[in-house]
Amino acid sequence: MTLTGNMLIGQHAIPGSREAIRGINPATNAALEPAYHGGTREQVEHACALAWSAFDSYRETPLVARAEFLEAIANEVEALGDELIERAVAETGLPHPRIQGERGRTCQQLRTFARTVRSGEWLDVRVDTPQPQRQPLPRADLRQRQVPLGPVAVFGASNFPLAFSVAGGDTASALAAGCPVIVKAHSAHPGTSELVGRAVARAVKHCGLPDGVFSLLFGSGREVGIALVNDSRIKAVGFTGSRSGGIALCKAAQARPEPIPVYAEMSSINPVYLFPAALQSRSETLAQGFVTSLTQGAGQFCTNPGLVIAVQGPDLARFINTASDLLRHSPAQTMLTPGISNAYETGVGTLAEHAQVVASGLAAEGPNQCQAHLFVTGAQDFLANHRLQSEVFGAASLIVQCTSAEEMHKVTEHLEGQLTATLHLDDHDLEHARALLPTLERKAGRLLVNGWPTGVEVCDAMVHGGPFPATSDSRSTSVGTAAILRFLRPVCYQDFPDSLLPTALQQANPLSLRRLLDGQREA
Ligand code: NAP
Repeated sequence: MTLTGNMLIGQHAIPGSREAIRGINPATNAALEPAYHGGTREQVEHACALAWSAFDSYRETPLVARAEFLEAIANEVEALGDELIERAVAETGLPHPRIQGERGRTCQQLRTFARTVRSGEWLDVRVDTPQPQRQPLPRADLRQRQVPLGPVAVFGASNFPLAFSVAGGDTASALAAGCPVIVKAHSAHPGTSELVGRAVARAVKHCGLPDGVFSLLFGSGREVGIALVNDSRIKAVGFTGSRSGGIALCKAAQARPEPIPVYAEMSSINPVYLFPAALQSRSETLAQGFVTSLTQGAGQFCTNPGLVIAVQGPDLARFINTASDLLRHSPAQTMLTPGISNAYETGVGTLAEHAQVVASGLAAEGPNQCQAHLFVTGAQDFLANHRLQSEVFGAASLIVQCTSAEEMHKVTEHLEGQLTATLHLDDHDLEHARALLPTLERKAGRLLVNGWPTGVEVCDAMVHGGPFPATSDSRSTSVGTAAILRFLRPVCYQDFPDSLLPTALQQANPLSLRRLLDGQREA
């Protein structure tokens, strides 16, 4: 398949005319063909108008048809074969097995949302039957279901060119909810975006859905992205990326005459707690697991363990020694983009100014290489210097040495919101961990015991979210089937004749949903 450099506005391949973007192979800094010209304001408007015109019809597609559409996207993505893998590897510097695994995850994610759509549980149907004889006032017939918000703007992530990009989690959950999607492609992988965008457009056509269900735009975030968020027909935004980018989109969305929700996943340093008994019994094993998690994918994961918190002493010293030895042999890896590589160098420089470097990985020749680094600081220094808790996106981590359990608690209270918090503990640590839990629940979206935060399962119980700055809305998750809830809102129908009710709410329950009927969940 030849890449064209065109955007997709519904079924139409249309060239942009603004500044050109080219994918860059970060391993060589070579620019890749073709050029992708940014969309104009008129083209953004065109995509929004088409999405709006598709909304009322798409949102009422039968659940089975919508599920089949999500499955058709997965099939079309798989049918892209090696061309997709090769292009994604070239545009990201990520190794083949990683991209192959990510394609599997992307398609599994689409199929999981298809299962969710079919079940209809997310419609959360509630029925309160009328009580005409109730005193002092009768009760009306009240029925509630969830409806989609409207067209959603999705900003693909640089670090997951498939699973969190054009047909990734935000797109899958918005389409599952019944929302048309307009993707602003990430400028770091435009060719990958075009390939996947065309796969989605084929699925739209194959399933006989309206054109405007999906569009793909190229161009800069500050122009195309902001124009999209400002368009009155866009009703929600999904974003994964930098704190500054996420905040800019939140501000734009709030400044609209009709403000809209932005679900931005931004920055997290994912504290890891090493409790005393666990450290005493297995500091070397912990160090091995830590270094593997830290250096995986050049540390370019939002759940990378960027902070380790423990009480100082010989057991922590053994952990630091083992981790340092391992890190010194860890090879440098290519980062996703020159911009991310520069940001990593700046972040490491800031850590080096304010904390002690205890080990560095192997350096490498060539562009955009991530050399891993491990830093140590004391709890008092950490508490006094807010810069030490900024996310450094890459394979760098900071160990905070505390003098007591109370100081570990103080450091925890001082932390910003996080996607994850990890507890390494043995039986003797349980009381210590229990004391910390109320604080950790306030700080993080996912709490793990004796594991590592990298690796986010796509399933029903997953939460990939957390208080600011981990995300802009801690009530939601961007991974897992609960992500669909971000794009829904409740509507109540009072005293409707049965024939006028949406199918999901009709008295005979034709969709066989497990309704909440007069306060009881149906079997
Ligand atoms: P980014 O710079 O935030 O870009 C993400 C997307 O948002 C891009 O499409 C970008 O458009 C757009 N954008 C950025 N700033 C914007 C603004 N002010 N207004 C409107 N749109 C804007 O993220 P990135 O390029 O992926 O990586 C940069 C940094 O983000 C990394 O160094 C890391 O710190 C962080 N990051 C975090 C995560 C995470 O999961 N927490 C993931 C990836 C990156 P353009 O196409 O114009 O760039």
